[in-house]
Amino acid sequence: VLYTDAPASAEIDELPAAFDAAVPHWRRYFALDAAKTADWQVTGALMVSAERFASAGLLPGDLPAFKNGYSRGRKLWLYEQTSPYYRRHLLLHEGVHCVMNSLLGGSGPPWYAEGMAELLATHQWENGKMTVGFLPPRREAVPGWGRVELVQLAVAAGRSKSLAEVLAYDARAHRETEPYGWSWAAATMLQRHPRYRGRFGQLRAHVRDVDFQGRFDALFAKDRRELAEEWQVMVANLEYGYDFERMAIEFADGKPLTAGKATAQVKADRGWQASGVRLEAGKSYRLRAAGRYQVAAGPKPWMSEPGGVTLRYYRGRPLGTMLFAVRPTDRKQTASALVRPLVLGLETTFKCEQTGTLYLRINDSAAELADNSGQAEVMVEER
Ligand SMILES: [Zn+2]
Repeated sequence: VLYTDAPASAEIDELPAAFDAAVPHWRRYFALDAAKTADWQVTGALMVSAERFASAGLLPGDLPAFKNGYSRGRKLWLYEQTSPYYRRHLLLHEGVHCVMNSLLGGSGPPWYAEGMAELLATHQWENGKMTVGFLPPRREAVPGWGRVELVQLAVAAGRSKSLAEVLAYDARAHRETEPYGWSWAAATMLQRHPRYRGRFGQLRAHVRDVDFQGRFDALFAKDRRELAEEWQVMVANLEYGYDFERMAIEFADGKPLTAGKATAQVKADRGWQASGVRLEAGKSYRLRAAGRYQVAAGPKPWMSEPGGVTLRYYRGRPLGTMLFAVRPTDRKQTASALVRPLVLGLETTFKCEQTGTLYLRINDSAAELADNSGQAEVMVEER
């Protein structure tokens, strides 16, 4: 049941239908009995004038101040928005809170409550068909949403957050908008990354546990450092349509060179790849790359060599340029070497500062790896 003082329009009139279409998805995600949601009902208020709702007895005086939306039990309130997508998004976001609080009996710590609400509210609504947990391929698919930009802008301004900082959000953090971006990013990465999604899924059964965070820590204890590093790489490369599968990193420490030489293969359609080669601090190396691979499809496929194609740039470098980084064997360092790639191109020589494994990738958007194909070969030589 939705009360509103916004003028009738097709987009407002269909909000209850959109909400109803999302409920079965949420029910499946949280593994709830169909019987539990069969006559489950939420009462909402979409408000232009809060005073009008207050005087009609539809906006309790004891609600805390909120910017966009709020929910309590099976009731929700939201302010009218200019973007039909974002209006619907907020309705679904508060709806997820209602499901968790009234049917699951809890929603875990702030990062999880808001991360799940964001994950399961980000949607596609087309011809009466609802998809939630939608990964927007581009900004135009979700006008007014802006979670990707919130993270990108924070990173550009030097306000990047570690995963630990996001997981530690307190109950007041989400009075600001930026934490919604970070919480969405955390839930989305954990939900989509091939190595983490199974474990992340287990958490949905534990939202009432006092020690929810302890459960999370135990589930991810064995590879927490890698998780923190994957997070850094994701945050630094975040784009609409980020390809979590292809950007997932198979961490593997390399072996020392035999006879001062080694070769490694680099797939064009993946993010960072371990080369299997270990480089030693204080030694100089020559790296050479060769091969021809596809860096974009389109009417005519774009081919590139490790020098890159100057017809198109990504993050200031020609598309397809071979990049490298040395990931230290000593993991005390918390900032990942993979977020500051160096240019290999066709050839480079460099002095290794810290012993570690050579990682390689080609320069391309993390959202545009699927239309790449082929591989390159990198020859490593001690000088
Ligand atoms: Zn919320």
